Amino acid sequence: MPFIGLSGRVAVVTGAGSGIGAATARRLTAEGCRVALVDRDGSAARAVAKECDGETLVVCADVSDEADTSAYVAAAVARFGPVDLIHLNAGISGSFGSFAATDVTDYDRVIAVNQRGVFLGLREALRYFRHEDRPGAVVVTSSLAGLRASAAIVPYTASKHAVIGLARSAAIEGAPHGIRVNVVAPGRIETPLQSHALKALDDPDAERALRTHSPLGRMGTAGEVAALVAFLLSGEAPFITGGVHVIDGGVDVSDPMRIQE
Ligand code: NAP
Repeated sequence: MPFIGLSGRVAVVTGAGSGIGAATARRLTAEGCRVALVDRDGSAARAVAKECDGETLVVCADVSDEADTSAYVAAAVARFGPVDLIHLNAGISGSFGSFAATDVTDYDRVIAVNQRGVFLGLREALRYFRHEDRPGAVVVTSSLAGLRASAAIVPYTASKHAVIGLARSAAIEGAPHGIRVNVVAPGRIETPLQSHALKALDDPDAERALRTHSPLGRMGTAGEVAALVAFLLSGEAPFITGGVHVIDGGVDVSDPMRIQE
């Protein structure tokens, strides 16, 4: 059964050329939304748009760029009319390693895309919805790495913690104006970004163990995250804002009475 309040809405999805963003674009078009697929890789986003069952627009943009951020919202409005829903999802993993091994250039690159990109997107969303005097709904993709520490992927962990603070602050500012802002915090989800992270281990046994280590015994799918995003953006969630919604097969659940294997 479709979620209420999605059909006929205009949505913007960043990072829509792959993985979770592509799945959200497919889900929202299937729910009857018209969707602007934003990605720095236009050809990947065009391929996803072809698979979508509905009206789409592809916008080639870098989410860490201030002018591109205003431009991707403006492009959606120009094509479809007023925007209702935004999924700020584009992100990169950066390189893996200890603090000592973390290169400052890589740190800045990850913060630019994952943190500055979400700041720019949230600021644009709040400005746009306030200026148009419209309600709106926004979902930000953080990560389980936004809630738990990791000494193996420092810039990513920092950026994913930061976007929770940004989104929850935006939820406070938006609430009096009917603008809802929520966060999804996925665990390991089968996407190109995750495959790259697992391959970087260069250890097939570790890769196998990590693929199955959630209490549910598997990784998640992009479609499962897209379903949560669509729910949070829909009219089924009118009283949900400022929340951090974990979707991780139970990884965040740890039993204090047992030593974790
Ligand atoms: P993905 O398959 O790599 O898709 C991300 C998309 O975003 C790619 O098309 C990528 O393009 C695009 N992108 C990267 N930087 C961009 C920029 N500056 N401007 C516009 N587009 C840009 O990754 P994913 O796994 O779906 O991840 C989506 C989000 O979920 C990310 O924020 C990630 O941190 C988060 N997440 C993923 C997992 C997981 O296990 N997969 C878990 C927790 C959170 P390129 O291919 O050119 O980089």
